[in-house]
Amino acid sequence: MRHIEGADRMQESLLPESLDDYVDADDPVRVIDAYVDTLELAALGFSKAQPKLTGRKPYNPADLLKLYVYGYLNRVSSSRRLERECARNVELMWLLRRLRPDFKTIADFRRENAAALQAACAAFVEFCRRGGLLGGKRVGIDGSKFKAAASVDRVMRRAQVSRDRAEIEQRIAAYLEQLDRADEQGADGAALERAQVQQALERLKRRGERLDRFEQAMNEGERDEHCETEPQARLMRSGREGTVLGYNVQSAVDDASGVIVHHEVTQEPGDTRSLLPTAQGAQRALEARTLEVLADAGYANGEHLQRCEDIGITATVPRREIPGVPPDRVQKAQFRYDAERDCFVCPAGQLLARKTKSERRKLHIYSRSGCESCPLSPQCAPGGSRSVTRHFYEQAYERSQARLQADPTLMGQRMAIAERPFATLKQAMGLRRFGCRGLQAAKAEMAIAVLGYNLKTMIGRLGVQRMLAALA
Ligand code: SF4
Repeated sequence: MRHIEGADRMQESLLPESLDDYVDADDPVRVIDAYVDTLELAALGFSKAQPKLTGRKPYNPADLLKLYVYGYLNRVSSSRRLERECARNVELMWLLRRLRPDFKTIADFRRENAAALQAACAAFVEFCRRGGLLGGKRVGIDGSKFKAAASVDRVMRRAQVSRDRAEIEQRIAAYLEQLDRADEQGADGAALERAQVQQALERLKRRGERLDRFEQAMNEGERDEHCETEPQARLMRSGREGTVLGYNVQSAVDDASGVIVHHEVTQEPGDTRSLLPTAQGAQRALEARTLEVLADAGYANGEHLQRCEDIGITATVPRREIPGVPPDRVQKAQFRYDAERDCFVCPAGQLLARKTKSERRKLHIYSRSGCESCPLSPQCAPGGSRSVTRHFYEQAYERSQARLQADPTLMGQRMAIAERPFATLKQAMGLRRFGCRGLQAAKAEMAIAVLGYNLKTMIGRLGVQRMLAALA
């Protein structure tokens, strides 16, 4: 039997190979190296970018940034694993010129430079914009939940606090009764029993104080849950995964290039309040006077649609279906809005005047009473009166809806533009859960991951050599 044989480990070569020989000319690691070398790290806010003349030499933040971008692109984000990779991964040996920072140095860099990492991520979008590599006219918006480092099991809900408090009170009452009985009996073992009961009471008191702290945190944050180990993380619904403890990451993706031009890690459990800030972030990043935005029904928000229009952003978002009256009743669609008179005209030709409003739901309420004599009354106003609502920003909704009707493929296009990046971040790059605790740490991690994703996307479009030429 013959097999392909490797080289003799002890063989000395006449012309020693250089590390560069091991890294292909088209290896994406060369683009990471070239991109980071273009950055003004001090101006971006990286600590130790300008080292002191005295004391121990620090690592260059450029080297640590290269290490992290490479790591996140290759499913290695933990500082301990990155330390190990520096010693055995040829691409990393090339990238860091055989430097081997320890895990603490690596972790400290990420923790200390959260804002600078976000700036480095934004700088790549700016580089692409200046180089004419982005479309800059239309973006797709999407949001995705990423799990926090802390476990969901460490979350205490308000209902649980109430249950625990009731249980503690019950047990305290039982112990106090026990103490009273021991005192009355005056038995020899009473002193010992009293000491044990006092200890148990102390433990219960401490548990009660812990519940007080949870409750205070919930009250201050105006929410019904609190995670002791990561107070900034929130419980949120996440598709097939059910309820997760994490953060909601919003992204705006340029349709022509596939680059994430703006992203934000938020504590918002839903997307309803994210349309305007995400669209605005994209507009700023693209320096676009006008911008077209596509988002799904989760972003439906009349006020945001209107405010987007006011600043030159045309957002198209399907309206979320609100459960209406039962199907056998006269539907709202059968009422015609009369803009001139600001009222609704019902199927019987009667007027419904604007009577009141709901600030919370942002609805004007139009109604009429005295419908008993109308033949449609059983299907329309069984109680003798009928009301219909109109959103404060109904016209903005109508304009968005008209754009959707004019081009029914828009939502399919949104899906193709905006959903791919999250699938890549989670599946290919393996970022499903943040490794560090807290909002700032999550922002730092996401900035590195998005920078890696954007580099990968542009390399995919242009190739390594054209990217290197553009960065030179
Ligand atoms: S029941 Fe009242 S609101 Fe409904 S169609 Fe008749 S008059 Fe109009």
